[in-house]
Amino acid sequence: MLTSLFILVAVVAVIWALAYHAADAGLWTVALGAGLIGLSIASPLPGAALVVLWLALIVFGVIGNIKSIRRSLLTAPIFKIYKSLLPQMSQTEQEALDAGTVWWDGDLFSGKPDWNKLLDYPKARLTPEEKAFIEGPTEQLCSMVNEWEVSHERYDLPPNVWQFIKDRGFLGMIIPKEYGGLGFSAYAHSQVVMKISTRSGTAAVSVMVPNSLGPGELLMHYGTPEQKNHYLPRLAKGLEIPCFALTAPDAGSDAASMPDVGIVCKEMWEGRETLGLRLTWEKRYITLGPVATLLGLAFKCYDPDKLLGGEVDRGITCALIPTSHKGVNIGRRHFPLNATFMNGPNSGKDVFIPMDWIIGGQSMIGQGWRMLMECLAAGRSISLPAQSIAAGKFASMATGAYARVRSQFKTPIGKFEGIEEPLARIGGHTYLMDACRTVTAAALDMGEKPSVLSAISKYHMTERMRLVINDAMDVHGGKGICLGPHNYLGRAYQSVPIAITVEGANILTRSLIIFGQGAIRCHPWVLKEMKAARENSVVAFDHAFWSHIGFTISNAARATWTGITGARFVPAPACEETKRYYQQMTRFSTAFALLADVSMFVIGGSLKRKEKLSARLGDVLSLLYLMSCALKQYEDNGRQKDELPFLRWALYDSAFKLQVAMDGIIANFPSRIVSLMLRVIVFPRGLTLTQPTDQMGHEVAELLIQPSAARNRLIAGIYLPKDENDLIGKLEAGMHAVIAAEPVEAKVRAAKKAGRITARGTEAEFEEAVKLGVITDTEHALCKRARALQHDIIMVDDFDKHFGKQQVMSEKADEGLRHAEAAE
Ligand SMILES: Cc1cc2nc3c(=O)[nH]c(=O)nc-3n(C[C@H](O)[C@H](O)[C@H](O)COP(=O)(O)OP(=O)(O)OC[C@H]3O[C@@H](n4cnc5c(N)ncnc54)[C@H](O)[C@@H]3O)c2cc1C
Repeated sequence: MLTSLFILVAVVAVIWALAYHAADAGLWTVALGAGLIGLSIASPLPGAALVVLWLALIVFGVIGNIKSIRRSLLTAPIFKIYKSLLPQMSQTEQEALDAGTVWWDGDLFSGKPDWNKLLDYPKARLTPEEKAFIEGPTEQLCSMVNEWEVSHERYDLPPNVWQFIKDRGFLGMIIPKEYGGLGFSAYAHSQVVMKISTRSGTAAVSVMVPNSLGPGELLMHYGTPEQKNHYLPRLAKGLEIPCFALTAPDAGSDAASMPDVGIVCKEMWEGRETLGLRLTWEKRYITLGPVATLLGLAFKCYDPDKLLGGEVDRGITCALIPTSHKGVNIGRRHFPLNATFMNGPNSGKDVFIPMDWIIGGQSMIGQGWRMLMECLAAGRSISLPAQSIAAGKFASMATGAYARVRSQFKTPIGKFEGIEEPLARIGGHTYLMDACRTVTAAALDMGEKPSVLSAISKYHMTERMRLVINDAMDVHGGKGICLGPHNYLGRAYQSVPIAITVEGANILTRSLIIFGQGAIRCHPWVLKEMKAARENSVVAFDHAFWSHIGFTISNAARATWTGITGARFVPAPACEETKRYYQQMTRFSTAFALLADVSMFVIGGSLKRKEKLSARLGDVLSLLYLMSCALKQYEDNGRQKDELPFLRWALYDSAFKLQVAMDGIIANFPSRIVSLMLRVIVFPRGLTLTQPTDQMGHEVAELLIQPSAARNRLIAGIYLPKDENDLIGKLEAGMHAVIAAEPVEAKVRAAKKAGRITARGTEAEFEEAVKLGVITDTEHALCKRARALQHDIIMVDDFDKHFGKQQVMSEKADEGLRHAEAAE
């Protein structure tokens, strides 16, 4: 009996081990055969049961090992069902899926990320020239802009600032040097946008757009040599201001459904009959549109008279149109949440353009969607993430400093536990965001165009920007609310929804894109299965499908084992402080791969409509990516122990959110039985991860409210003027001054408590303290300076009661009176 039990346990252990290591059919057959021999010799199992087991093994052995038999008996019928269930994909969906590359996201989907590979990827670096540009013209540009003046008085950047932007090449950062551009890396581009964003959202967006999805990038990748030679040098030097118009009133998130058309026709052009397009369009929300000289336009091309031969419906196409061209209506403005970068609608009716205005020429008709998707794949991970981390870094600097400068109840507010909570979130999220930005930019500089990771960066960075700005606002209280030249947060707060909406609105990105695209692009087998179905190749399908089954079984075994053991035996990079995080992440990567597969197997094509599940699966993938970036950043920074509080908080917070997302997937899984099984496999010991502790939050908050090397690294790259006449310069100086004054103030307080100082009023108390020798003149001067800075920092603006619009207001009042009289 004992022997039989031993053999049974051994068989189960071997099966588990084989599943864990995704053994091939041959090994399975040998191992199971050995187990059955053991059972046959020692087992008291009835003979009939043994016969059934042997027969099952023979069937398994034949089907598993003789591919031709497996293909015809098993794979072929499955292939038939698979093809009938595979949802039809439109050309635009297919092109979106095909865009870009798969990078670290592929490893995360594998369930077995190779951490050393991640750590070996080169660190993001600036060339001396890029560094000089950031420390030179970029700093200078920041010093030239006053965002209040821009956003409230001028509603535009001043002419000298526009000129500086053009002259110094800010609009051509991504254009290669051979065309007169700066030819910067993605990382340098991100650093520039980040720095400008910490000074002026308007200037940052004006610089961002020509460098991200727009005519410049499209021309570089797809333009004809003539188009490149003509436009790129002009764009690089700011002789052309570009915009790109995709969005239409009826086609926002679903931009591919645009009603804008280009009809292939022949018309007289420059004195001769010319083949071209007659365009009719109505676009809105187009950034830089009102000042653009060059309009990039996406439309659907039709050839009803078959002038090109072939199809009538030719697909989405992109063209470049000078805005001075007859029939182009451009120049009116939208007013997006008080942000005063140029943004507006444009339209045209029956506007003729020659074929060579199509980007890439006539041969690129119908390629527009692919072009846009491919450019978006990279661009999405630069501009908006840079703007978001700018918000994080700025909030860390300003909120930390303000929380030290602002005292209530005789205590700097940053020392209250209630304020420590938002400060911890600001610091922790900022560390994570910076890591994500830096690691993703480095990937782009290695030549990757990671479409899924770009969507993750865009979504998670802008969402975290929202969190940190909200927290910063709360810590600043009324100081953040009253707009005016002394408010350095309000405009950022107002602008957050813009970043959330543009370049793929966030709800859509989370619900549909991240996992939807990721599951197909990054999964080791799904795309191969789909390709096999498209090519009707049962041989390719056989390989992909059975490998996929093996992969899923292996992940189930690995998830259970790592769940039970807390992943303690999983290999991880040798770093005392971070080893456990790597191990836990391997565990969750495995569990994620399993959840993704089970979701696809059980829910199939309708998973696309199960957006809440898809969103949570996307959250898990995203959090794994963000945590990977944080760990890599820690390594790339040389394992600086003083930044561990940031790292720890960020990883605990992310891991807890990841657990919530996984729990949500399992709890809401449509099949109760599968849900129960998944819970046992993924969380065999229950939900064991906790949120960051209060102590962890305290350590982060402490780092933000005083100067330190770790704080400097966290906020590195922002515009931080040394000039105390500048509000931000004053804020940082104020923090230093207040900290220096604290021990002196303590001496005065102690003397007062001891009854030595009897004067009333701050100034009188300090003067008496000097007279009594409690403090020195120098110390008194130090405190005076701190109080003066403190006062300036906490003050807000006030205006005359008509906000300087007395004339307008009295006219409106008269008009109202006239209406009232007329009504009577
Ligand atoms: C300031 C600003 C600047 C812009 N600049 C440009 C530009 O330069 N060029 C350009 O072409 N466009 C530009 N846009 C357009 C921008 O890309 C669109 O606003 C965006 O694509 C969303 O479209 P929409 O505003 O019409 O929202 P809608 O498409 O109406 O979406 C509304 C909401 O529904 C959600 N949603 C939609 N479909 C789904 C779904 N299937 N599942 C879940 N949720 C869904 C969205 O996430 C969003 O939250 C700009 C917009 C703004 C506001």
